Amino acid sequence: MSRFMSARFAGLEAYTPGEQPQDMQYVKLNTNESPYPPSPEVFARLSREEIEKLQLYPDPEGKILRQKLAALYGVGPENIFLSNGSDDILNFAFMAFCDESHGAVFPEISYGFYPVYADLYGVKAKKIPLKEDFSIDHKDYCHAGGMVVIANPNAPTGMEISQAQIREILRTNPDNVVIIDEAYIDFGGTSCVELVKEYENLLVVQTFSKSRSMAGARLGFAIASAGLIEDLNKIKYSTNPYNINRLTLAAGEAAVDSNEYYMENCKKIAATRERTTAALREMGFTVLDSVANFIFAKSDAISGAALYAGLKKKGVLVRYFGKKRIEDFVRITIGTDEQMEILLEKTKELLKEGKA
Ligand SMILES: *Cc1c(COP(=O)(O)O)cnc(C)c1O
Repeated sequence: MSRFMSARFAGLEAYTPGEQPQDMQYVKLNTNESPYPPSPEVFARLSREEIEKLQLYPDPEGKILRQKLAALYGVGPENIFLSNGSDDILNFAFMAFCDESHGAVFPEISYGFYPVYADLYGVKAKKIPLKEDFSIDHKDYCHAGGMVVIANPNAPTGMEISQAQIREILRTNPDNVVIIDEAYIDFGGTSCVELVKEYENLLVVQTFSKSRSMAGARLGFAIASAGLIEDLNKIKYSTNPYNINRLTLAAGEAAVDSNEYYMENCKKIAATRERTTAALREMGFTVLDSVANFIFAKSDAISGAALYAGLKKKGVLVRYFGKKRIEDFVRITIGTDEQMEILLEKTKELLKEGKA
């Protein structure tokens, strides 16, 4: 830290993104990207003409994309907010909806960015432990007394809470915003998007990064009551009105137009997830029941740290957190069937080497 940095950030611990090796030599199963490329429609849309238009600013309202998303999710364009990745929405939400009297409430084991945003804005954070089986007890979030943030399905467990449970959280927190982060919803969970019509305090956050093969384009969106969207826009127009670039807007439109392609990929990934889960359990692993595009697994025969390091040496990158209660686990992104075969093979080798 230089002597110029404001003292209020002295204690801030920034988020650590997963490794993004630039030599591309790994079977990359560490940051929950899609193993499948963008749809042919996206390729076609990012034409020379589109690149020529880069000299002009993009539409700050993202009108066309918002209309397309509204039609897809059965809401109005006034219920959609677009952002530079969904991290941006979380950032804006902590800025907009938290203060001295409205802290934030989220699971102790969840997306690592939540506590960072809380720290960034000096917001009091209540971190609630998961149950023994790593599930979220929704009752812990009823009458929470602050902005509730729940990833559903949760990361890195992949486990979800039900729509009825979310309803109860919404009903018992009428004076606080409840954020349901649905980054992984397309891989088999039950979305609560339809509840935005009933609950003005619900903010559903989704992203093109995981199920829509666009992590590199940075595009997220929120679905909520018009009032909450207005609040997020106020923050956006006070920081960076052009938060989504032209090429990403164009790619996003083409991606929504080819939604079927992505939903088919999600089905393939879910099938691969089930096969991989069964194979790892066969090898003696404990694997949590995931409805996401990753699994959380541990083995009594090898530590999480050794599995992570051993796999990396063999060219397979998974995510290791080394955090209390989950230090035995690794999080494995579901790739193609071929990639998962390699993972299983290298894991078997490691277990064998451990015994020798
Ligand atoms: C990946 C992820 C995000 C952020 O994704 P963006 O790439 O910023 O859209 C948000 N929440 C959770 C739980 C995630 O795993």
